[in-house]
Parts: sequence; C-alpha cells; structure tokens
Amino acid sequence: EMEEQWRPFNKTRVYMSDLESALHYSLRVEIASHSVISGTQLTALRRYISVLNKYFPGRPPVKNAVKAVNDWLQVQKGTSINYSDFRAILDTTSTDSYLPKVVRWVGCQGSKQHFRGYPCAVWTLFHTLTVQALETGSSDPQEVLQVMRQYVRRFFGCRPCADHFENMAAENVDQVLSVSSAALWLWSRHNLVNSRLAGELSEDPHFPKVQWPPPDLCVSCHSLKSSGEHTWVINEVLTFLSNYYSPQHLLHDYLS
Ligand code: FAD
Repeated sequence: EMEEQWRPFNKTRVYMSDLESALHYSLRVEIASHSVISGTQLTALRRYISVLNKYFPGRPPVKNAVKAVNDWLQVQKGTSINYSDFRAILDTTSTDSYLPKVVRWVGCQGSKQHFRGYPCAVWTLFHTLTVQALETGSSDPQEVLQVMRQYVRRFFGCRPCADHFENMAAENVDQVLSVSSAALWLWSRHNLVNSRLAGELSEDPHFPKVQWPPPDLCVSCHSLKSSGEHTWVINEVLTFLSNYYSPQHLLHDYLS
C-alpha cells in the first residue's frame, strides 16, 4: 500500500534530497502565493535567505543559487519586491548555480500522498540549520530560531501550525542564550508538537509520532529517575542531534 515510486531509505539518516526539495517548495511554491512582498514579510524573507546563505549545507551549485538570491535581495532598497523578479533570479541557472525544480521526498516520504513531505522537510531543514550554526561557531543563539519563527509566521501554508508555533516561540524562545540551547529548544518544541499530534488523523500510520530520538536511535539519550520516571540526558541528546543533522552525515542519494 506504499506509493508506487517508493524510494527505499535509511530511517536513521537525513537526506539532502529532502532539504533541496524543501527549498524548492518553499521558494517556488509557498512564497509564490504572494505576488508582492513588503513590510514584515519582506524582512522575514530577507532574513530567511540570509540564514540559508550562511548555513544551508548544500551542494556547491545550490549554495551558489541561494547566494545569488541573497545578493540580489541585499541590493533591493525599495519597500517591496515582486515575487516574479525574485523568481527570475532564483531561476537563472548555470552549470555551477541551480536549485533543482523537483520535489523528491526520501526520508520525508509518506505512505500516502497526503502524509509527511513538506512539513517534515521544514522541520528537517531548521534542525539542520541550528546544528550548522552550532558547528560553524555562530555566536547568535536567536538567529536561526527567529528566522524560523518569522518564516513560519509569514509564509508557512499551514496556518494552524503557524499559530501553534508562534505561541510556543512567544512563550520562551527569547530565553535561549546559547547556540547549543537553540538546537535543543527546537528539539524540545518539536517533541511537544509530536506529543500533541500523536494518534491524530494527520499521523502517517507507518511513521507514528514518538518522543524523539527513540531508544533504538539513541539509547544513552534516555534515563530513568530514581522515582522510575523517564528523563532525557540532555548532553547525550545534544551530541546525538549534532551528529544526526550534521552536514557531513547527510546522504546524497536520489539527487537530480
Ligand atoms: P515530523 O514531525 O515532520 O518530523 C520530521 C522528522 O524529524 C522525523 O521523521 C524525525 O526523523 C525527526 N524528528 C522528529 N522529532 C524530532 C525532534 N524532536 N527533534 C529533532 N528531530 C525530530 N501538524 C498539525 O497537524 N498541527 C500542527 O499544529 C502542526 N504544527 C507544525 C508546526 C511546524 C513549525 C511544522 C514545521 C509542522 C507542523 N505540523 C503540524 C506538521 C507536523 O509537525 C509534521 O511535520 C507532519 O505531521 C509530518 O510528520 P512526520 O511523521 O513526517 O514527522
């Protein structure tokens, strides 16, 4: 009952194809629903592209395509841009600069068309960016989280998701004071979402929502208090996250 073109994948790894497909969908589909972009939405877009330019661990031509868009946005001094102009820069390709125009989910494949895919890849993208910020020695713990917050608020197509995420961010994201805490904040918020959504109709039965990483992915991340209650071993979770979402650990199968 899996989709016809099912792509076998390793459930313990992150795929570049999901990250590139997330960028393609975000930049060519989601943002495309706004023909003119201005104000807080333009600020959100500029910061998003700037963070991608700094931390997206892409193949060289994909990084060059992101850089071209970032350079172009930097010199737009007006208060608004037309999506069509943005798109023209994004679609200006050469052998060493392109973003493939394909959606090819791998680790984010769903057992049915309407499961997983883009929302899964958005989480994957931002976890990867928080880990890359950590790895490259960024000194701004708010940078990636605020970009995600504003992107989701201004562009993410799932509006109830955006409202939920904004509520979580408004609650305590400003208390994140280190880049390692930023990666952990996103991990813990994602687990809150997982627990809220477990058992809902939106859950892919082949990919049940669990508190992540489950023991089969990271046994040392889990511990029991003397009371018998489950507890996370935060240092182990951070080590696990840093490795799991590390650019060196990404798989490049199925890329165009
Ligand atoms: P996802 O939750 O999308 O996770 C993708 C992958 O990330 C998993 O396969 C796993 O490998 C890894 N992962 C899982 N948990 C963690 C973690 N804690 N830390 C690091 N990595 C992890 N759907 C709704 O129905 N209601 C909502 O309110 C809602 N809010 C959302 C808010 C945001 C910002 C986003 C991006 C999505 C939201 N969604 C919401 C969609 C939902 O969270 C899932 O993305 C979707 O149901 C697909 O689930 P999935 O099984 O692919 O796993």
